[in-house]
Amino acid sequence: MSEQPVPFLDLASVNGDLRAEYEAAFSTVLGHGKFIGGPEVGKFEAEFAEYCQARAAVGCGNGTDALELILKGLGIGPGDEVIVPANTFIATVEAVLYVGARPRFVDVLPDTLLIDPDAANAAVNKNTAAVIGVHLFGQMVDIDRVLEVTRRHGIAFIEDAAQAQGAEFDGKRAGSQGVATGFSFYPGKNLGALGDAGAVVTQDTELADKIRRIADHGRSAESRFLHDLVGRNSRMDSVLAAGLSIKLRGLDKANAGRLRAWKQYVEELPSAVRPVSTHPKAAAVHHVAVVEVENRDKVCTALDEAGVGWGLHYKTPCHLDSAYTQFTESLPVVEAAAERILSLPMSPNMTEQQVSRVCEVLRGVTG
Ligand SMILES: *Cc1c(COP(=O)(O)O)cnc(C)c1O
Repeated sequence: MSEQPVPFLDLASVNGDLRAEYEAAFSTVLGHGKFIGGPEVGKFEAEFAEYCQARAAVGCGNGTDALELILKGLGIGPGDEVIVPANTFIATVEAVLYVGARPRFVDVLPDTLLIDPDAANAAVNKNTAAVIGVHLFGQMVDIDRVLEVTRRHGIAFIEDAAQAQGAEFDGKRAGSQGVATGFSFYPGKNLGALGDAGAVVTQDTELADKIRRIADHGRSAESRFLHDLVGRNSRMDSVLAAGLSIKLRGLDKANAGRLRAWKQYVEELPSAVRPVSTHPKAAAVHHVAVVEVENRDKVCTALDEAGVGWGLHYKTPCHLDSAYTQFTESLPVVEAAAERILSLPMSPNMTEQQVSRVCEVLRGVTG
């Protein structure tokens, strides 16, 4: 058995095969000089919208901006509440606070660690404007049940699909069912750019147009010399869009590589290391490989000693994080899970030997 170190994620190796294609694309962009919003951006937007089974995509600066632009575009702001799961990357919460709305944290389901639709339903009040369903770890939320809640109350359903490019629930893609969906192309995401980038995806082309204008300083559709909305600057760079088009062609294959590694983990992990569940209707894209263990500190030490990378998604539930202490909810499922969760190495090109090595180290420490 190989005792080679296993990195958590090796981005140089994930992107290395594409070097020649990237270099050709850079050269094209250098040649035309339209560095922001050039033809590569429109091309990628069209390809990505189609990939997501949606009508429109708007490229922007990053995934956090994508969520903020959606909330702005929907007119959500001061006085409004937005329901968010407490188990998410902090960016989901930042977007809500940056538009002046109030996040309302709800608990997650114990098996998938994704938003609990009943908890979301119970949290709705007269100020609730939207629910953000976060497709965490590469698995979509139970979208049928969440949509039932948002339809019953007449509020918006927004998807945070930063970790779920290509994921499906009941055959429908992430990005196809929310009022709008925020995607991140942070380099480590399943569809990762060569820098910071993001996109808003939606079936609503009017909303897409409005968001595009907000992200471009509120520029008027009639004249580029007029600004009829108070906007901001969050646009996509042409080189990054060109790289994303290249990467998108290989996304299904990359996600299949992640699924293969995940299935091997599920088979080979010792019984004291429990993988999070996948809903029977979900086709997950395994952005991170999350398991639960009881003696996590000891396990992490053993992984460190063996040179196996690991992560925590997330060590502190958002409502308990130090900038957010005004939110005093008690959310027992996420709080208990935060003590046990552990993310194992995961990447599109993980080898069978690497997964076996990680499982062997875990077997050694959990007995
Ligand atoms: C990465 C991420 C974001 C933010 O994306 P950035 O591009 O880093 O701004 C938002 N939500 C979730 C769940 C994420 O994982």
